[in-house]
Amino acid sequence: MSSKDKIRAFLDEVALRNEHEPEFMQAVKEVAETVIPFIAENPRYEGKNILLRMVEPDRLISFRVAWVADSGEIQVNRGYRIQMNSAIGPYKGGLRFHPTVNASILKFLAFEQVFKNALTTLPMGGGKGGSDFDPKGKSDGEIMRFCQSFMNELFRHIGPNTDVPAGDIGVGAREIGYLFGQYKRIKSQFTGVLTGKGIDWGGSLIRPQATGYGCVYFAHTMLQTKGKSIQGRTVAVSGSGNVAQYATQKATQLGGKVVTLSDSSGYIHDAAGLDEEKLKFVMHLKNVKRGRISEYISAYPHATFHSGKRPWGVNCEIALPCATQNELDGDDAQKLIGNGIICVAEGANMPATPEAVEAFQAHGVLFSPGKASNAGGVAVSGLEMSQNAQRFNWTAEQIDEKLQGIMKNIHDKCAQFGSGDKGYVNYVKGANIAGFVKVANAMLDQGVV
Ligand code: NDP
Repeated sequence: MSSKDKIRAFLDEVALRNEHEPEFMQAVKEVAETVIPFIAENPRYEGKNILLRMVEPDRLISFRVAWVADSGEIQVNRGYRIQMNSAIGPYKGGLRFHPTVNASILKFLAFEQVFKNALTTLPMGGGKGGSDFDPKGKSDGEIMRFCQSFMNELFRHIGPNTDVPAGDIGVGAREIGYLFGQYKRIKSQFTGVLTGKGIDWGGSLIRPQATGYGCVYFAHTMLQTKGKSIQGRTVAVSGSGNVAQYATQKATQLGGKVVTLSDSSGYIHDAAGLDEEKLKFVMHLKNVKRGRISEYISAYPHATFHSGKRPWGVNCEIALPCATQNELDGDDAQKLIGNGIICVAEGANMPATPEAVEAFQAHGVLFSPGKASNAGGVAVSGLEMSQNAQRFNWTAEQIDEKLQGIMKNIHDKCAQFGSGDKGYVNYVKGANIAGFVKVANAMLDQGVV
């Protein structure tokens, strides 16, 4: 059978079991298209159904989360934890609180996490979880009661050697605090069961910065391979949450001019670029006031707000999509290409659609998938686990140095498996194969389980 036929047969089989899960199938298809031809060339992996085993979660836990709103009304949400693969370490991956959360989205994220965690070289399996709870507009008390109720069930499935959740969309320092507090209360144990903890109670320096910084380090390394840098280039960033904020900070520190940020209501364009002071305003607006990015223009009236739009129509050479999945489609990619884009590094998970990725690759744009370029967050989470286990802390400089080393190493692994004929590196192919090899080798060693 040709590789093309094998891919089609594989996807048909996976689709039968995962009907109505488009995001999950999208992530599986991308991996299958690159990994199945690799398996065909490497007999060690042939005939073992490794990929088929990898797309089936070890377990999928779903539970009721009942909690009481400030109004006294009883609310019900659905909680999940997907434990995808533990061949190379305890399950590790974030929790997402967003009204769009469902099994398809969490399975795609958990599947990607398996490859991403393998790329970091740290001993972490892949998982993901969350809830369809919408934190927007909720009081602190409501957030706390929701987190406590969520943990009342989750606690029995996690542990420092079993499964170590972290943050994601809608789950930041505040939520991790409430979740950790409830876990500790139930278990009477102070352990590294969650990462992204506060710095005074077991957290790691640089963890908040790690995903955004790591994404920019990755973009920097890709540019370097072409004798280019971020210095003096215009950068479009989407999102305005954790990843977007620190991607903006690092890109600015490296001499780039970040001209956009966004949220689900629209984007702001500041042609003068965001400096430290403007970024400080955004951090206060989003992290403390929990406001909307449109409020940026009241403080900086020379900037413009574009309601309901995405930032990909602006002139820029570097794009860092840092909001959410499928936020940059084929048309957006064509606009970016028309405006002279040279580098796209995904900070979010799967923000570019398959059509967009294809267009970037066809035009020789440096393009890195989130599972490679946003792995800095989980890498520093892995370092947080090591620090917790040994009850000590590295300095910020030490962690930043380790982070830079890890991102460079991931880049080089992708280049090793993704280099093509004309000197163009297909980082998608490289990341998928490098991640697959590590997990597949462990699975082969451990037998059929
Ligand atoms: P945050 O909750 O801090 O911020 C999310 C940002 O994305 C907000 O600006 C939000 O806007 C925007 N957003 C969310 N949903 C949509 C949507 N449907 N359309 C447009 N904008 C949207 O999350 P993070 O910054 O932590 O996560 C961003 C991305 O990075 C996600 O894909 C996440 O999986 C990924 N990631 C995060 C890591 C981390 O360490 N935090 C690690 C690796 C990947 P609004 O306020 O309007 O919802």
